[in-house]
Amino acid sequence: MRVFVTGGAGYVGSHCVRDLCDHGHGVLVFDNLSAGHRSAVHPQAEFVQGDLADRSALADVLAAGRFEAVMHFAAFAYVGVSVAEPLRYYRNNVANTLQLLELMREAGIQRLVFSSTCATYGVPDRVPITEDTPQRPINPYGRGKLVVEWMLQDSARAWGLGSCSLRYFNACGAAADGSIGEDHRPETHLIPLVLSAAAGRRPCVQVFGRNYPTPDGTCIRDYIHVEDLASAHRLAIAVVQPAAAAAYNLGTGRGLSVREVIAAAERVTGRRVPAEESPRRPGDPPMLVADAAQARAALGWQAQWTDLDDIVRSAWRWHESHPDGYGD
Ligand code: UDP
Repeated sequence: MRVFVTGGAGYVGSHCVRDLCDHGHGVLVFDNLSAGHRSAVHPQAEFVQGDLADRSALADVLAAGRFEAVMHFAAFAYVGVSVAEPLRYYRNNVANTLQLLELMREAGIQRLVFSSTCATYGVPDRVPITEDTPQRPINPYGRGKLVVEWMLQDSARAWGLGSCSLRYFNACGAAADGSIGEDHRPETHLIPLVLSAAAGRRPCVQVFGRNYPTPDGTCIRDYIHVEDLASAHRLAIAVVQPAAAAAYNLGTGRGLSVREVIAAAERVTGRRVPAEESPRRPGDPPMLVADAAQARAALGWQAQWTDLDDIVRSAWRWHESHPDGYGD
C-alpha cells in the first residue's frame, strides 16, 4: 500500500514508518519537525517537511501522491500544556485534522488510521478499560482527540470514510535494534526520566503521589511498547472497512506502578535510581489499564513486548547509545 504518514518523524510515527517500510509498503512522511526528528525517518520513506496548517502544500502532496491510505500521528501531546494553551491545541490537533480530512476527501483517499489515546476516557469508573467505557476526557488534549474520533464517525456516515482510531495507553520503549527511540523536548514521560536518573543525567526521578488507592500507593499504567503500537497500525490499515469508524484500545492489559517501573530500571541498568516523593500531578488518574480484547479479535494483534524488563532494556539501549537523543 502507498501510505501518507503525518507526524512520521515523531516517536510513535517513526516506529510505525519503519515497520511499514520493513513490510514493503511505500511511505511518504509529512512532518513539520516541530517535535519530530528528520533522522528518525526510515531511509526508504520519502520525506516532505510541511505543516498540516499549510492547505496548499498539503493539497499538492495529497493530490500528487496516489495514496491509498493515511496514518495521522501529527499532534501536540503534552497534557499540561493543553490545559494552559487549549486553543493552540485545538487548532493543531482538531482544526488541522479537519483540514486533512477535507483534503483527503478531495483527493479521493478513503482510508485512515488515527492516533488516539486513552486520555479520551478521562478517569474511568472501572479498569480494565473496554472501548465502550464512557469517553469523558478531562483535559483539552483528550477532548481534542475525542472530537477527531467524532469527526471520523460522522465522515463514515456522510462520505464513506473508513477509519480506525487506535487508543494508545502508555507508549514506551525503543526499536529492538536501538536505531530509533524516544526523544521528547522537554521529556515528561516516566521511563526516559527514570533512565536518565539511572544514568546520572538528572539528580533523581520524582514520584508523583504515593497515596493513591493502589497496592504500593503509586499510579498504575499500562506500558505498551512502541513496536507493538507499530504492528497494530500496520494491521489496522489493512482491515479498515469503507464507511465505518472503528476504535480499539492498544495496551498489554497489565498495570504497572511507578515503583515497579523504577525497580525494573534498577534491575536492567544495574544502577540505583534516586527517587524523590512529590505531590500528585494534577489530572493523573490512579489506574489506567487497557482491555485490548477487541484489537486482538479484529486485528489479530497481540502485544509481543510483555515483560517490563525487556521493555525498559530496549529504552536503556537507546538511551545509552543516544545520550543526547537524535542530537538535533
Ligand atoms: N510519573 C512520575 N514521575 C515523573 C513522570 C511521570 O511519577 O517524572 C508518573 C505519572 O504520575 C504517571 C506515570 O508516571 O502515573 C506515567 O506518566 P507519563 O507522563 O509517562 O505518562 P501518562 O500516564 O501521563 O500518559
